[in-house]
Amino acid sequence: MRSASFGPTGREVARVGQGTWHLEMADRTQAIAALRRGLDLGLTHIDTAEMYGSGAAEALVGEAIAGRRDEVFLVSKVLPSNASRKGTIAACERTLRALRTDRLDCYLLHWRGGHPLAETFAAFDRLQQDGKIASWGVSNFDEDDLQEALELVGEGRIACNQVLYHLQERAIEHAVIPWCRRHDVAVVAYSPFGHDEFPRAGSAGAQVLTEIASAHAATPRQVALAFLLREAGVFAIPKAARTAHVEDNAGAADLDLSEDELARIERAFPRGPKPSALPMI
Ligand code: NAP
Repeated sequence: MRSASFGPTGREVARVGQGTWHLEMADRTQAIAALRRGLDLGLTHIDTAEMYGSGAAEALVGEAIAGRRDEVFLVSKVLPSNASRKGTIAACERTLRALRTDRLDCYLLHWRGGHPLAETFAAFDRLQQDGKIASWGVSNFDEDDLQEALELVGEGRIACNQVLYHLQERAIEHAVIPWCRRHDVAVVAYSPFGHDEFPRAGSAGAQVLTEIASAHAATPRQVALAFLLREAGVFAIPKAARTAHVEDNAGAADLDLSEDELARIERAFPRGPKPSALPMI
């Protein structure tokens, strides 16, 4: 599994990780086996959130990583409604209990809400000083939100921005990825398969993916992930409740696409114009 430096954290993190949204709705034994198989294969970046199943996804992750905590780059997120100074600290403590751990590797603000960023970031600072989080970042931040955050805390503090990024939603390529590259903030692609909108078999886009995949003895999903990961500093967190899917996703990290193949994918899934607001789900 290829890894890369995760923003300013000094940590090497697997470029393909594992998401957990709705994982608690899958067969529990299978879901835990899938997460553990992912760890075996080096998909050690595990992304969860207090929102997912109202803590049930965190509890499932806690069970899956029991005895293996040191292998994992563990990320969770505070809900915007909880992201006051005190609320963030209380939320983090609940998350740590659910995950059965004493620390997170990265803690994110899930999206911008009503609490001032300065309050949330002050709480992140406190949690970092207390050793409860090793780093912190943001999610669903557009360029102007990132700039505001940077002006509050300065360079080298924001570990990542976790944002929607898949073949059919490439809006972050306009300004967010370039901003993050300039300021050494890792970009984490969420819903890298479009949540449940992966190009349907038989569509023109799927045909391109299938042709490129067969040239590499790979799968269309591996090609899609490799496309998203073509830029250094980008990470992806596909969610998979089945071991076979995790194994498939793990194969993407070592797949290199040629310039010609990247250009074909660009044409099949055009970036489109910059939207007025950053898309999110
Ligand atoms: P996704 O990863 O784009 O797609 C998940 C779907 O793809 C599931 O139905 C899964 O099936 C299927 N799948 C995965 N690997 C597959 C494979 N190799 N072959 C065939 N099917 C495969 O969707 P997502 O869950 O929305 O996004 C990923 C993660 O990003 C989330 O779980 C969450 O951690 C994070 N996220 C963050 C935000 C945010 O606001 N920060 C928002 C959305 C998501 P099975 O489950 O049946 O294996």
